[in-house]
Amino acid sequence: MPDNQPPDVGDKPRPTSSSANEFSPSGQIPTDISDRRSLARKRNGVHKSGTLIKPAPANFYDLTREELRQRVVQWDFSPVHAARLWRYAYREGAADWAQMPELPARFRERAQQELTWARLPVAVETRSTDGFTRKYLLTLADQRSIETVLMRYTGRVTACISSQAGCAMGCVFCATGQMGFARHLTAGEIVAQALHVDQALRGAGPGAPLAQPHSPSPHHRHERLRNVVLMGMGEPLHNYEAVVHAIDILRDETGLALGTRKITLSTVGVIPGIIRLADEGRSISLAVSLHGATQEERVALVPVAKKWPLADLMAACRYYSEKMQSKIFYEWTLIEGQNDTPENAHAVGRLLQGQWAQVNLIPLNPTAGYGGVPTGQAAAKKFQAILAEYGLPSTVRQRRGIDIAAGCGQLAAVN
Ligand code: SF4
Repeated sequence: MPDNQPPDVGDKPRPTSSSANEFSPSGQIPTDISDRRSLARKRNGVHKSGTLIKPAPANFYDLTREELRQRVVQWDFSPVHAARLWRYAYREGAADWAQMPELPARFRERAQQELTWARLPVAVETRSTDGFTRKYLLTLADQRSIETVLMRYTGRVTACISSQAGCAMGCVFCATGQMGFARHLTAGEIVAQALHVDQALRGAGPGAPLAQPHSPSPHHRHERLRNVVLMGMGEPLHNYEAVVHAIDILRDETGLALGTRKITLSTVGVIPGIIRLADEGRSISLAVSLHGATQEERVALVPVAKKWPLADLMAACRYYSEKMQSKIFYEWTLIEGQNDTPENAHAVGRLLQGQWAQVNLIPLNPTAGYGGVPTGQAAAKKFQAILAEYGLPSTVRQRRGIDIAAGCGQLAAVN
């Protein structure tokens, strides 16, 4: 599929580390018949010679706690070991069998054959001059790169994580959109980013000695990750299966235990994904990138609005909001002279009036491929005042990490 074409969403099987990489290094699905036969044989664990193929070890971070428990029971071990292993990984940040002394040697030997710890190595870590933001350039198993950001605000820390390498949506002001789409991330690759930030907060990077590995409640002694926003590289609802699976893992109460409303999923307006979230009863904090209050203005900034028009998007948002009894956060990138006039603000007010909504105003962050200018403070305040006339609460996003290209729309996975 060519870059920047919005493919259909929400109907793909969940990519896993093994399904994405085991049969085809490029992650492409074989198309000719002999390739497909070969793929089917491999799925059944049989080589063309008739000998059994041992399946590749699974990435631990691709598994929910229940999936791990089932595997451990299949190996003929007590589920107690699964619970211990889970706690080591998510409560103590262990990613090495040597850091799990309570596991019996026989179990460890089997688990070692069946599981891998696919942590994402840091190629580059950059820190903002104000000290509030760190950006990590992480390397995937296929040597592609993604970016993850740790942001400190007053009273909270947030991890901004990626759901794809690149993005197919092509929003004109976004560095990720400008680079095109490479591939979906697996659930494990999404989870590993959150774990990386959690580890950074605890002060123990992967492989570093843990502070007090056997304490029953390490979270009470260390700063820990409590907020995750899926606002990094990629459109999360274009990678629906892997993203919701990762969210299940991140929320597990015996693992990272992120609260329901502490995970924000930001979409450019992928309508089938929004409806599916509502129909599956998936309670998250939903953010929708609006940027234009008429179909024409929106298409100019968000080309996929041609596929998913504004009127249909509003209907999908109302459906989600009513079904999930949840407020929707609308994001509005403020671009001087483009969408920041009082008329624009009135148009937003009329569009969203009566919805349970909040508008997050984000002064444009610079990118190499777009020449727009951010709206100044006075115009942003005026915009807010007009929204208030329509009963719409709003915030102006605190700017974080602009000097290290870690702000909204700036992630491009370049060194
Ligand atoms: S803003 Fe989001 S959806 Fe749009 S191109 Fe960038 S990463 Fe993709």
